[in-house]
Amino acid sequence: MVLVKNILATANLSISKDSTISDAIKFLNSSTEEAVVIVDEYTYEPICIFTERDLIKIIKNKIDLDTPVINISKKNIITINHNRTIEYALSVLIDNGIRRVVAVDDDNKFLGIVSQKHIITHLEEESFTTNLLVSNIISQKSELVTLNIKQSINDAISSMADNDISSVVILDEFNNAVDIFTEKKVIDITNQNISLDTSLKDVCSFDLISVNSDDSLKDVVEMMSLNDNSIVIVLDKEKKPLSVLTTRDIAYNIKGNYNKFLENRLKGVKNTLNYIGELIIEVCNDNNAQIIQWINEASINRFSSHIIDKPVKTLLGDDIWNEVYSYIKENGQCTKKKIQIEEYFYEMLCSYHIIGKKETILLILRDITDYENRVNCEVQKRQEQEKELKLLQNVINQQSSIIIVTDGSKIYMVNKTFLDFYDVKDKEEFENKYLCICHTFVSHPAFFYLEDKSKNWIEEIGKLQEKDRVVSIINLKTVEPKAFSIQVNQLLPNSNRYVVTLTDITDIKLESQQHYYHATHDVLTKIYNRAFFLDKLNDEITYSSRYKAPFSFVIFDIDHFKRFNDTYGHLKGDEVLINVADVVQKNIRKTDVFARWGGEEFVILLPNTTIEKAEILAQNLRSLIEDIKLDGIGTITASFGISEYTHLDEEKTLIQRADEALYKAKKEGRNKVVSYTK
Ligand code: GH3
Ligand code: MG
Ligand code: MG
Repeated sequence: MVLVKNILATANLSISKDSTISDAIKFLNSSTEEAVVIVDEYTYEPICIFTERDLIKIIKNKIDLDTPVINISKKNIITINHNRTIEYALSVLIDNGIRRVVAVDDDNKFLGIVSQKHIITHLEEESFTTNLLVSNIISQKSELVTLNIKQSINDAISSMADNDISSVVILDEFNNAVDIFTEKKVIDITNQNISLDTSLKDVCSFDLISVNSDDSLKDVVEMMSLNDNSIVIVLDKEKKPLSVLTTRDIAYNIKGNYNKFLENRLKGVKNTLNYIGELIIEVCNDNNAQIIQWINEASINRFSSHIIDKPVKTLLGDDIWNEVYSYIKENGQCTKKKIQIEEYFYEMLCSYHIIGKKETILLILRDITDYENRVNCEVQKRQEQEKELKLLQNVINQQSSIIIVTDGSKIYMVNKTFLDFYDVKDKEEFENKYLCICHTFVSHPAFFYLEDKSKNWIEEIGKLQEKDRVVSIINLKTVEPKAFSIQVNQLLPNSNRYVVTLTDITDIKLESQQHYYHATHDVLTKIYNRAFFLDKLNDEITYSSRYKAPFSFVIFDIDHFKRFNDTYGHLKGDEVLINVADVVQKNIRKTDVFARWGGEEFVILLPNTTIEKAEILAQNLRSLIEDIKLDGIGTITASFGISEYTHLDEEKTLIQRADEALYKAKKEGRNKVVSYTK
């Protein structure tokens, strides 16, 4: 690899800031170079460059040669670091339209000049297009500018300035080329103070170097390099001048084949691109089709090398490519375009370049699949959840039961039946009105009711047996109390959200209540029946034997009841039974259990009551019965027998003893209370 510093012309190429144009011309005249650099004598930084081309303009514009050279060279100087490659230096020259560039060190101190001539002779052979002929280059050039040998120096300078060319060809009277009048010659003439009106004949050197149009370019470059010449004349087969060929033309020709040149340059760059994780794709325009020309390793791994030499459309899809292509053509680049190729998502950066008249598009694809999938996954999940929720809502709306999803305080979802029952439009309205569903439960012993509102009602009801999970709620539309059985199911395992179903069991409840009533009550007197009484008696025996609490048993029988029936008829007899039961029921404690034993016999269970106290109660009842007044019926009396529970008792023995006492009361004249005592 050849670097700028390897080919640098360093010898005596600078003049100081205060030099005049005259000084510069003198300097150039003594130099082999075509330019001189004005350098700051303290910092040693280059300030500007003065070239032979500048001189042509100065003469044309009749500028005083005593003017400081710094005044006329105002253009910003282009410099290049001496460690750059000559290929890079050449691209700087070509891209900036200059023939030489000033080389500096890392501190921006002046080192020397690199010219096209130097670079071209040092470029690696393959940088030139092999087999390229002189004719290939000159065919692209504009028409040859010639002057007759009889014309003046002034004419030559004007012609060069007007055509902005560095030389004109001088022809003799036979139209044969005799010399090339160059900028270098102008320097020479100026230096010697030769009048510009002088005929060209007097200044021609006749040392013309000519080449043939079918000479190989490589040979010509070698020859020019050997003769330290930067311009030659090209002759046709008849030795007539066709064109001039300069190092500049050769440099531009290389630019014409810039791709090959760049390819070499980019080889190194592309190697580094192979280490980049992003997918890089180079696309070139060939006959109006954009073809994938090169891809990096990451792209090969993703797409395989088969995509090379295929239209980029086949990779990206027609629509995306057309959109991107027209955008970047106009804007130079586009950033962050999101695209999908197969199952992958990418963020694409594109840039558009014209390299040597050729469209080159660079695509950089950043794989964002993971991110995109995560986002898509979330979106999909949410959509599915919403769908499921809608479905669930539909399903629960079709249920006649009231259904809510709650954690015991906050409500998450309710169904249509719920909204209808509570006469609210949504759960928010319900929460504003009632706060919690448990606040709508009616306080009743037969139903679940949350006394302590600080507790979670779901947890509390869960502690009950399933059959007891029943609540009563007033239907506000009909003002009817309704009974609901409650089912609580966890929404998900380990979730604190529950699906609560309230099934209206008002009808069932009523029915079973009626059943229960009939099973436990006497139809005539509406007090408890014998079966219920025996249940309670057994409960009491169990309780009393465990807690050593006393209780007494009373049996009473209406005296000569047969007579009522016989005298007044059965209906009157029934009336007596009803009235007696009524009086007794009203005069015992709530905790006492009073039942019809059978016929005109009744029994009373007196918890927590000794036989003495039971006797007092019985006396009271006996007296109250005696006071009953029924139309057309004389006094009603009853006889009482009492026994007290002992830990040796069974149901049978306890009743037997009371029975014995009753028998005794009858025997002793009726309307009497007898306690069984040992
Ligand atoms: P004592 O004083 O000895 O108990 O005499 P008593 O007549 O009350 O006794 P007895 O057992 O001889 O008569 C009971 C009568 O009660 C017989 C039966 O017809 C009558 N009886 C039983 N159940 C009913 C009922 O539901 N309604 C009516 N009206 N009478 C009933
Ligand atoms: Mg009887
Ligand atoms: Mg009787």
